[in-house]
Amino acid sequence: MSIPPARRAAAAVTLTLLAATSVGCQISGDEPPAPVPPTGAPASPTAPPPTAGNGPHHVPLQPSQGSAGDPYVPSDGNGGYDVQHYDLNLKVDPGDRAKTLDATATITARATTDMVAFNLDLTDLDVASVKVDGKAAKFTRDGGELTVSPTATIAGGRDFTVTIAYSGTPQAVNDPILGQYGWIRTPDGVSAACQPSGAHTWFPGNDHPSDKATFAFTLTVPEKLTAIANGERGRVTSAGGGFSKVKWEVKQPMAPYLAMISIGRFKVKEGTTTGGIPILVAVDETVTSPSLEEFYGIKAEITDFWAKTFGPYPFGSTGGVIDNAAVGFALETQTRSIYGDFAPGESIIAHELAHQWFGDSVGVTQWKDIWLNEGFATYAEWMWSEQSGDTTAEEFFVKYYSEPEGSAAWQVPTGDPGRDRMFDSFAVYDRGAMTLHALRKRIGDDKFFTLLRTWASEHQHGNATTTEFVELAERVGGTELSDFFDRWLYGTVRPAL
Ligand SMILES: [Zn+2]
Repeated sequence: MSIPPARRAAAAVTLTLLAATSVGCQISGDEPPAPVPPTGAPASPTAPPPTAGNGPHHVPLQPSQGSAGDPYVPSDGNGGYDVQHYDLNLKVDPGDRAKTLDATATITARATTDMVAFNLDLTDLDVASVKVDGKAAKFTRDGGELTVSPTATIAGGRDFTVTIAYSGTPQAVNDPILGQYGWIRTPDGVSAACQPSGAHTWFPGNDHPSDKATFAFTLTVPEKLTAIANGERGRVTSAGGGFSKVKWEVKQPMAPYLAMISIGRFKVKEGTTTGGIPILVAVDETVTSPSLEEFYGIKAEITDFWAKTFGPYPFGSTGGVIDNAAVGFALETQTRSIYGDFAPGESIIAHELAHQWFGDSVGVTQWKDIWLNEGFATYAEWMWSEQSGDTTAEEFFVKYYSEPEGSAAWQVPTGDPGRDRMFDSFAVYDRGAMTLHALRKRIGDDKFFTLLRTWASEHQHGNATTTEFVELAERVGGTELSDFFDRWLYGTVRPAL
């Protein structure tokens, strides 16, 4: 995610003030409640819970039926199964305020333990029916949890299919700290951008970045509107009754929060980058800057540049969408980053494209490691600026490092900023990028860029942890770096140079 400079400056002031009022308390009063305890549905666990590294700053993941065990988002995700594929059949009629969405989700998953029941994340909306392997299943709702009880126990290791028919009008997430995101109504349609917890406002699933799956979206919309999603587009056909239908397919694994749709009046341009990567961009008809051609050109150029820098582009296509959504952020939705109603400059486009490698292909296992996404994407902004002949990475580093030694900004640890500061522009974005620049100076350019490419290839389409990054940096760098990373990622004072 990225916030454009003007709005980002305002956010930084707010965050600095917040930090100043919570000096010394480690913001524990702001942390979300502890993970929901297991509700006991897994019948006989066959494997120990996965762990997120074993360093001093990592706690084991403890998934339960209704939680992935991530303390930043204790009610998100579920235990007991691993989703393989989401097939989302969505009829979206923005003009129907009472029932904008009429949908069927077919989810293919593999049980990781014997289950007499399992949970899906889904907020609000009306569920008409749930079937497991084609047989009607009982279900109950409780807050954001949809608990499904199939007619027979699902054996661990077995693949199963759950089909949910549901409808209603999804609502945006209005988070008191993170702001408004998720399903956003626009003047001509809707747009969905869902980091961290918005996906389950419009489709049921295992809404945590640790469970990636392939996706297909079949979108039925009023025929005067264009429907954009992640991945590659099929043919647009008539669905009758004034509606058209189009299928988008995401053939590489994707975290649910990176799923996007954008429906409205768009100008669309598609083709292939100079480097041979299929590209599709869409710009809302009311947006004049950048133009469709400019947006296409810069997206193609930067995608190719990062492919040379970070290694082969990890997905089937690149691109982006600029919609007239009243949100002040951009999000790195897989293959097709989405930008709100501001004119995105090269810096923010470079940021979201770098996320395709760092954040999307190499995903986090827990949200506290979000610097692995944002620190890397911010460092990519610095690199893009330098190669464009503007401010160099070293100049950016010097600027941010000049934050006074005693400033409260340094008190928020980059490697575990707390849920309410997971998008802290200084601690996560700038200090994350500073960490990488300091590392680059420590191990040298050759090893640093080998490290970035190795990180992208070893964890391609997977999930990773800070502990794994530190271990790889030590392996590639050929030197012990635990003190270095402790100071840069977990220290609460400005790291000495
Ligand atoms: Zn970002």
